[in-house]
Amino acid sequence: MTLSNPNPDDNDNATMKKKIPSYFHSPPLHVSLAFPQATPASTFPPCASDYFQFDDLLTPDEQAIRYKVRQCMEKNIAPIMTQYWEKAEFPFHVIPKFAELRIAGGTIKGYGCPGLSVTGSAVAAAEIARVDASCSTFFLVHSSLAMLTIALCGSEAQKQKYLPSLAQLKTIACWALTEPDYGSDASALKTTATKVEGGWILDGQKRWIGNSTFADLLVIFARNTTTNQINGYIVKKDAPGLTATKIDNKIGLRIVQNGDIVLRKVFVPEEDRIAEVNSFQDTNKVLAVSRVMVAWQPIGLSMGIYDMCHRYLKERKQFGAPLAAFQISQQKLVQMLSNVQAMILVGWRLCKLYESGKLTPGHASLGKSWISLRARETASLGRELLGGNGILADFLVAKAFCDLEPIYTFEGTYDINTLVTGREVTGFASFKPAPQSRL
Ligand SMILES: Cc1cc2nc3c(=O)[nH]c(=O)nc-3n(C[C@H](O)[C@H](O)[C@H](O)COP(=O)(O)OP(=O)(O)OC[C@H]3O[C@@H](n4cnc5c(N)ncnc54)[C@H](O)[C@@H]3O)c2cc1C
Repeated sequence: MTLSNPNPDDNDNATMKKKIPSYFHSPPLHVSLAFPQATPASTFPPCASDYFQFDDLLTPDEQAIRYKVRQCMEKNIAPIMTQYWEKAEFPFHVIPKFAELRIAGGTIKGYGCPGLSVTGSAVAAAEIARVDASCSTFFLVHSSLAMLTIALCGSEAQKQKYLPSLAQLKTIACWALTEPDYGSDASALKTTATKVEGGWILDGQKRWIGNSTFADLLVIFARNTTTNQINGYIVKKDAPGLTATKIDNKIGLRIVQNGDIVLRKVFVPEEDRIAEVNSFQDTNKVLAVSRVMVAWQPIGLSMGIYDMCHRYLKERKQFGAPLAAFQISQQKLVQMLSNVQAMILVGWRLCKLYESGKLTPGHASLGKSWISLRARETASLGRELLGGNGILADFLVAKAFCDLEPIYTFEGTYDINTLVTGREVTGFASFKPAPQSRL
C-alpha cells in the first residue's frame, strides 16, 4: 500500500514543475532584442517638444544651464533609470554628477550656492524631470524645500553652517511637514516641540517624507507646546529617538525614498531651531516659491513624454506605414505638443511674476494645479500612442504616467491648490466644510 501525500498541494506542485518548460527561469530578453522596431528610452530621444523655441525667452546663462542639465541627464540617468525605478532604489553613485552641475540651492545667493535666476532654476528642474521625475523630486525636496527654508528662515549661523555642504550635495536634506493624520490639513499638525534646558524635545510622526531614509539633515515642523504655533527644527540623522523607514509599494516616483519618520523624545539643541519659523505662515512663504519650481516638474515630464512619442511614432510601423502617418496619431501628438507649449508659457510667466516680486500664493497654486492637470492629459494620450509599450517603463511614458500621479498630489493636491486660488479671487476660504444644515 502506498501512503498518499498528506499535503495535496505538494502533489500539485510536483506535477506543475514537470510541466514547466526548461527555459522558464531564463532572464527576459533585452528590450532591444524583444522589440527591435523602436528605440527604448535608455537612449533618450532628441528634444522635439520645444516647438515655440522657448530658448528665445531665456538669457544665455539660462540656456547654458538648460543644455548642461539635459546632457547630464541623458548621459547619466537615462541608461539606468528603468532599472532603479523597477527596484525602487536610489542611484547614490550619480549624486556627484548632480553636484558637478552646481544647481543645488538654486536661487540662493552666497553660502556656496549658485544664485541662479528663478527661470534658470526652473528650467534646470524641468530638464531633470524630462528624463526622470524621481530625480527632480529628490532634487527639489533637497534644494527648493529644505535649503530654501534654511535660507529664508534660518539664522546667519545656520546658513553658514549648513548651506555650503548642502549646495555641494556633500550632505542631503529632507523637509518634513506632512503627518499620518494631517496631509492637506497640514497646519493642524500635532508633532510637538517642548522647550527644555538648552533646546527642545520633539515627539510625533511624519509621513511621505522624500529623501528621509538617508538624509543627513531633516527639517522638521512641530507645534511649540508653549505658543501652540508651528516652529521648524534641523534634526541630524542618527539623533537618539529618531527613525526613518522607507514606504514600500509605491506606483510612482519609485526611485524617491519616501519615509515614515518617528520622533520619540528627540533632543534638538537651541542652535538648531530654525530662527524665523514662528507660525504656519512662515512655511507657506517657502511653499509658495517651491510651488513655482514644482510646477516645472510636470512641464519637463510632459516634454519627455512628447519627445518619446514623437520618435516612437516614426519608428513603429503598422499597416505598412509608420504610426506617425495616421491622422488619429497626429491629432493626439499635436494635442500633446500644444499642451506642452502652453504649460511652458504659464511656467515662464510664474517665474517672471516671482522675479518681479508680484507672485501671490494664488498665482503659484493656479500654475501648479493647471500645469499638472494638462500634464496628466498629455501622459494619458502618450500612453495610448505607444500601445502595449505604453505600459513598459523601458519606453519612458508608462513611468512618467505613474510618476505624475504623486506630483498631482504633493505640494498641495490639485483640489487644495484650486481652493488657494479660489480664496484669493473670491475672498472666501472654502477649505472647511460648510456648517451642517439642520434639515
Ligand atoms: C510621493 C510623495 C512625496 C511626498 N513628499 C513629501 C515631503 O517630502 N514632505 C512632506 O511634508 N510631504 C510630502 N508628501 C505629502 C504630500 O504633500 C501629501 O500627500 C499631500 O499634501 C496630500 O495629503 P494626503 O496624501 O494626506 O491626502 P488628503 O489630505 O487625505 O487628501 C485626500 C483627498 O481629499 C482631498 N481633500 C482634502 N481636503 C480637501 C478639502 N478641504 N476640499 C476638497 N478636497 C479636499 C484632496 O484633494 C485629495 O484628493 C509627499 C507625498 C507623496 C505622495
